Amino acid sequence: MLKLTPILLALLYGLVTYRISAWRTARELDARSTELADPVLKRLTDRLAAALDLPRIRVYLYEIDPVNGLAAPDGRIFITRGFYRKFQAGEVTAEEMSSVIAHELGHVALGHAKRRMVDFSGQNALRTAMMMVIGRFVPVVGPWIAGLLTNLLAARLSRGDEYEADEYAAALLTKAGVGIGPQISLFEKLDEMTQGRGGMAPAWLMSHPKTDDRVAALRRLEAKWG
Ligand SMILES: [Zn+2]
Repeated sequence: MLKLTPILLALLYGLVTYRISAWRTARELDARSTELADPVLKRLTDRLAAALDLPRIRVYLYEIDPVNGLAAPDGRIFITRGFYRKFQAGEVTAEEMSSVIAHELGHVALGHAKRRMVDFSGQNALRTAMMMVIGRFVPVVGPWIAGLLTNLLAARLSRGDEYEADEYAAALLTKAGVGIGPQISLFEKLDEMTQGRGGMAPAWLMSHPKTDDRVAALRRLEAKWG
């Protein structure tokens, strides 16, 4: 029992940080967002809603500059002000914006948004527990190995989520009559914007797998369904 205590403490710590970060995220989003009221985008989200047999899809505008879309653990979908600005400037089309919304809907529908918060705190607990265990046998590099292993695991998990959300979005956009085209063209645009800014990737791309691989996966779907 005494040997297990540190691991139990690490798990408890993970649970508490999960609670706190879920609460903090919700509060931050509440304070800095409003419902997106854009007639052109609404026409598209209404088509997505109809394809899902939902009365409507609410999208919120999150007042930060980085180009990003996100799904909160409570299931709300957010587009950042920075991303919306690109749409207003005509750099990103309404269909391309709807592909981001569809991707985030995928994270919600597939349970990623909720699990990610659990993952985050679970990872902290796992790291701590592994450090204690490995650290006992491998003194100096042990903690470093533990950190590396948890990071690898996390990256693998989140990469899988991205492909799943892309596939969900592709299916939804196809059903809604928008098609996979805007999803692919947005990836290519964001990739180009990235290069133009001297390698500064927008947040939305940074937390995702390589664009080429995602576009290739979408083209495979397009070939399969077309
Ligand atoms: Zn994603």
